[in-house]
Amino acid sequence: MDASSIRPFRIGGTWRGNASDAPHTIVSINPADGSIAATIARATSNDVDEAVALAWDAFRNKPWRKLRPDQRATTLYEIGRRLSAERESLAHLQMIDSGKPLKECLNMVDSAAGHFRYYAAVCETWQNEVTSPRGEYFSMALAEPFGVVACITPWNSPIMNEAQKAAPALAAGNAVLIKPSEETPQLALELARICLEAGLPEGLMTALPGYGEDVGAALVKHPGVRMISFTGGTDTGRTIGAIAGQRLIPVGLELGGKSPHIVFEDADFDRAVAGVMSGIFGSAGQSCVAGSRLFVQKSIYARFIKSLVEKTRALRVGLPDDPDVQMGPLISKAHRERVAGYVDLARQEGGNVLVGGAPPTDPRLQNGWFYMPTIIDGLSNNARVCQEEIFGPVLIAIPFEDEADVIAQGNDTVFGLAAGMWTSDYARAWRVARELDAGSVWINTYKQSHIATPFGGFKDSGIGREKGLHGLRLYSQIKSVYFGMHEKPMGL
Ligand code: NAD
Repeated sequence: MDASSIRPFRIGGTWRGNASDAPHTIVSINPADGSIAATIARATSNDVDEAVALAWDAFRNKPWRKLRPDQRATTLYEIGRRLSAERESLAHLQMIDSGKPLKECLNMVDSAAGHFRYYAAVCETWQNEVTSPRGEYFSMALAEPFGVVACITPWNSPIMNEAQKAAPALAAGNAVLIKPSEETPQLALELARICLEAGLPEGLMTALPGYGEDVGAALVKHPGVRMISFTGGTDTGRTIGAIAGQRLIPVGLELGGKSPHIVFEDADFDRAVAGVMSGIFGSAGQSCVAGSRLFVQKSIYARFIKSLVEKTRALRVGLPDDPDVQMGPLISKAHRERVAGYVDLARQEGGNVLVGGAPPTDPRLQNGWFYMPTIIDGLSNNARVCQEEIFGPVLIAIPFEDEADVIAQGNDTVFGLAAGMWTSDYARAWRVARELDAGSVWINTYKQSHIATPFGGFKDSGIGREKGLHGLRLYSQIKSVYFGMHEKPMGL
């Protein structure tokens, strides 16, 4: 589709958005060169009422909720198969929407397809519980869907984030409304199309491209939405959580992070350097689990930082379609200004910028929102840049004395999403892993993610767990059913 023609979205069998709706559009900008990636018809809060009503109609009347889970699995497998079949074109769309390197986008499409296959397999093997009776009855606990769930996603991992929510929510029998980020609206529309083409009945999966304060807020407040799954910033998550609290509806919140990445003196030096770089500079630091606070044991601090800085200077920052590129652009001009603002703040707070700290000078990158990988030291963990999520390629390095010191500093944050460490002492790794306040801890590796392994945050990094069997439970409510087996009429 031509980037200047308006791409419509679909609610319950009809397409919305055409030239006459032109004021209601979202323009997705390619972060690599500032060109228009797509112009998308924009849903508004008025569309939410209709989409929710149609989703309830589909939930109640279309063959989905009442299908056996193994029957639902057939459609989920087919969605996964179609995602894989369209891997290249979806990854390309994601690249121009988000600026992520093509190879990362291909991984994200693979992950999205994997989520549908995994939850299809879960449907095939899911067992409800039979509970031990304590009377003249037979009792069981069944996982039931909520009805209509709203999934609200950020811009940093489109299609993967959407699939991570939609696949288990659909597997559990719900109807799903997805509100993608206004920065990256295209992949959710593609996912909705693929679901329909794979045989999911109309109305069970609707993508509503729109703004957070408009469509997002309307979804969160809508009485017909019975569960909210949100991934995004902690402030937005707090707002949504407060509304969900008032409404007494369940919420899953995957929020921000400021993860400690720890290098002990006995670590495999070169692997630790590579792991630290991959932990912060992958996705240009626009990752909730980015290892953005580096703690290195004092005895190796100077040597480690020297090597890290040298290797960081050699990183290949470039256009996302270059197969050799290691770091692409940031999502937008505004976000680059925000990241640059934090680096300025670090300088004001007394930090030393050891490498980076500016946009690149390469003339081919001047139209995009690139920022060089940056390492700063000379600050304490109390500095604002150590406490606030920057969400960019900015690493703050801090020396530490010993295990107790690094556990205290590592946990001295409001966040608790992830943590990593490099050490050859597995007993220490186990001790420290148990002490760190984090939903995921990586030992001698970083940023690994597995569909079957739960993911989520401690503290201000979130509530609930996605992925794995926990992911299906998040979108289910438990109903206990008793079958009477009385020999005689019941007495009082
Ligand atoms: P954001 O909070 O600004 O927006 C996320 C989504 O919420 C967008 O779709 C936005 O339109 C919507 N939104 C905004 N205001 C809303 C409101 N009042 N009501 C309902 N919806 C609203 O986050 P972002 O800038 O898109 O993403 C970056 C953030 O996401 C970072 O903090 C990052 O750490 C976090 N994140 C967390 C995870 C995780 O799994 N923990 C994964 C990826 C990103």
